[in-house]
Amino acid sequence: MGDNMLLYASAGISELEIPNKKSLVIYISECKNNCKNCHTPYLHEKYGYPLRENFNELFNTFYNYFDIVCFMGEGNNKSDEKIEFKYYCNIVHQENKKIALYCGRDCDIEDWMKSFDYIKIGSYQENKGPLTNRNTNQKLYKKINNRYEDITNKFWE
Ligand code: SF4
Repeated sequence: MGDNMLLYASAGISELEIPNKKSLVIYISECKNNCKNCHTPYLHEKYGYPLRENFNELFNTFYNYFDIVCFMGEGNNKSDEKIEFKYYCNIVHQENKKIALYCGRDCDIEDWMKSFDYIKIGSYQENKGPLTNRNTNQKLYKKINNRYEDITNKFWE
C-alpha cells in the first residue's frame, strides 16, 4: 500500500444503513464532496486514525454483532485508497461477511467499487432527503448474481 491511506473518525454498530441488516459502520474522513448543509462536516478534515492499523481489531471486536462492514465515505478517492478498500473487501469475504460502500458522489458504479456487495451512490441534497425519503436522489445497489440491483425502495417498506 502507498502513502495515501484511509483515516477513520469513528465506528459502531447500526441497523440504518442497509435494510434488514446489522452493519459495522466505519466513518472515513477527508470527504471531498462538499454537499451543502452536510450533516457530518468533521469528516471533511484529515482527521482520525489509520484504518489499516485498526481494521482487524474493529472487525474482531464487533464480529458477532454485524452482517456487513459499511464504509461511510471513500476518503480522497486516490488509487492507494481504492487498493486499500479492495484489501478490506477480501478480508471480509474470507470471513463470509458482506461489505458496503457509501459513496457521496453523483457518479455511476465504477470498476474499483465492484468488490463491494452494496454500494450507495449520490450526494446529500437537502431538498430531496436521505435514502429513507421517497424523493431522494441517492440510490442503494445490491450485488445479485454479479449485477447491481437498485434496492432503494427497501428503505420505504
Ligand atoms: S458525502 Fe456525506 S460527509 Fe461528504 S459532504 Fe456529502 S454529506 Fe457530507
